[in-house]
Amino acid sequence: MFLEHLRNSDPHRGHIEVICGSMFSGKTEELIRRLKRARIARQKVEIFKPKLDTRYDEVNVVSHDSNFIPSTPVDSSTNILLLANEVEVVGVDEAQFFDDELPAVCQALANRGIRVIVAGLDMDFLGRPFGPMPQMLAIAEYVSKVHAICIRCGNLANYSHRTVQNSSRILLGEQESYVPLCRACFNEELKNTPGT
Ligand code: ZN
Repeated sequence: MFLEHLRNSDPHRGHIEVICGSMFSGKTEELIRRLKRARIARQKVEIFKPKLDTRYDEVNVVSHDSNFIPSTPVDSSTNILLLANEVEVVGVDEAQFFDDELPAVCQALANRGIRVIVAGLDMDFLGRPFGPMPQMLAIAEYVSKVHAICIRCGNLANYSHRTVQNSSRILLGEQESYVPLCRACFNEELKNTPGT
């Protein structure tokens, strides 16, 4: 389990943590675990998510076990800089859907002394690095890659395989349209799926 390397004085507290993995890997649950502990310690916490992620609820970051905390939907990552006022911890969920400015925004927040915790899909349904996540992984002090379990063979899974025919990168309202697969089972599926 991830243990924070926390410091008290402001200029040394700022840093970036990234939680990445496939769907069903528990990314959002891990983000919520860290944020709730910070909140219990009376730290001021703000959570942001991209506006397009409206699967369950407009205002709350909702993990799939309904263990939710309030969040602010934003149109673009630069809005986070404007909205994160006098906070000690900033959480970002569904980071893969944000624009390319997200890494610079997180750097600016961390340089202000803010602890930034970013959760997102590292790969899309074809196994390609997703949105600003590669850059986020590069600049973070701490990276946690979490895994799901392959539904075919029971190995650790790090791919989100789409089970419906749709070639667009973003498919909303879609929990039931994906299954977690390991590398071998994912490659097997891709071979058998024409047009991907
Ligand atoms: Zn497998």
